[in-house]
Amino acid sequence: MLKIRLLTIVMLALVRVSAQDYKAEYEEIKAATKIRLWFHESDNFVWASGLNAAQTRPCVRAAEKAFSIWKEVSGTATWREMWGRTKCLVLVGKNKSQYRKLLRWYEKKHDPYPGFIQAATPNNYFPNQNKRVAFFMHARPLDIKTLPYVAAHEVGHLCVWRFRWNQYFVPPWLEEGMGLYLEARTFNRTRCYCFGGSYGDASGSSEKLFDIAWSKWKETVRQMVRKRSDKQMKTILRLRHNQIGGPEAGKSWSVIDFMIKKDKKAFTRFMRQLKSYWPQKGGPSPAFTPEKQKAQERALKDGFDWTFDQLDAEWRAWAKKGMKKIE
Ligand SMILES: [Zn+2]
Repeated sequence: MLKIRLLTIVMLALVRVSAQDYKAEYEEIKAATKIRLWFHESDNFVWASGLNAAQTRPCVRAAEKAFSIWKEVSGTATWREMWGRTKCLVLVGKNKSQYRKLLRWYEKKHDPYPGFIQAATPNNYFPNQNKRVAFFMHARPLDIKTLPYVAAHEVGHLCVWRFRWNQYFVPPWLEEGMGLYLEARTFNRTRCYCFGGSYGDASGSSEKLFDIAWSKWKETVRQMVRKRSDKQMKTILRLRHNQIGGPEAGKSWSVIDFMIKKDKKAFTRFMRQLKSYWPQKGGPSPAFTPEKQKAQERALKDGFDWTFDQLDAEWRAWAKKGMKKIE
């Protein structure tokens, strides 16, 4: 009996993460990377940054604002529902060399999955959704003005991943769409470009969509609808991340915007059901399967009582009329 009680006390002690623990983690990162880092604990995130306080604070404000929008949309009460035992860790490098060192510390400490470092290193920013929830970014070649946009955007990715967490992939249109949606809601503008297979690389066809006012991007999507050149949701829902280009990303955030304006409780129900229906067979593979289509169809039916064709029709009508608030 005493043993069980002791075990319970030990377990509770393990679950409670205090400010000192965050500070100790920071000291550990600093010692391992030999980078002079600015430490900060905000309401929902913990920061260790190679930039100074004044340079990092806009990122803190952006991430917090994006997270508060997410909470309002999804009915999330606290960060614990999203991040688990510890606040989301944000590691900011002032350049690529610091970014690599921070990633190396993280992989050594948490080993999130095989190939993590190879996946993260070529990019300028990167999220990790399992174990210690975190995201990473750096200020060169990106400029310091872009980093707050990245922060808001990565919060969007992590929220989609972590909501009713399971270890399997989520549909890329939803992940990318939510990143852009939160970025746009936070700034009325987006600067990220991790769609089109160009994660953090402002080259190629996504260049035109780098640094775009939300109103302008909305107009671009409206024109797509008028010309009927947009892909059907049935097609978009099966795309892999590197198959989502500018037009698909634009439609994805716009469809999310529409669903939330229509009925945010229904949208949350759609997300929740999607997580429960998502096939677990085959493990965390990004490959499209008919089961993944079925999971999305069932979830949309539960959430809005629509098929994806109906969603297309409703969204198109709304987009043509100016993407306004729905009373
Ligand atoms: Zn993204």
